[in-house]
Amino acid sequence: MGRHQLWRKVSSIPLITYFKPAGIRMAELEEVRLLVEEAEAIRLKDLEGMEQEECAQQMNISRSTFSRLLDSARQKIAGALLNGKAIRIEGGNFEMAVRRFRCMEGHEWEVPFETMISAPPKLCPKCKTPSIMPLFPTGMHRGGHGRRGHFRRGISG
Ligand SMILES: [Zn+2]
Repeated sequence: MGRHQLWRKVSSIPLITYFKPAGIRMAELEEVRLLVEEAEAIRLKDLEGMEQEECAQQMNISRSTFSRLLDSARQKIAGALLNGKAIRIEGGNFEMAVRRFRCMEGHEWEVPFETMISAPPKLCPKCKTPSIMPLFPTGMHRGGHGRRGHFRRGISG
């Protein structure tokens, strides 16, 4: 048995990450949590119209894994739509196709997915300081009450 592929490559984070049906009081509102990689699966297959094989390659996962992601995503979205539930898009096991970093001196650089998975950066390539932080794409900050770094590591183990 090979190691499980934990990280799914995601090239786009939805700008809007919360959908709420009209006319339902918060107290009665049920929520469905759509993982970021599930949203990406829907985006590639249903929005971009790509073949499953292509989508799987794009996300760096097997075709059967992609198929499961897609089924799960569609089921959650359908359930939310037809049963009047809210959808929150967050979390999961994914890494951005390109991740931008910034060091304390203000240098910024980009790290490709393959590098993030094999050897994430520990130093700034210009000034060699270890004080570096990832810059999250737009749409990942949620109003100020979302924890920064929330999306970075979806699982704890
Ligand atoms: Zn630097």
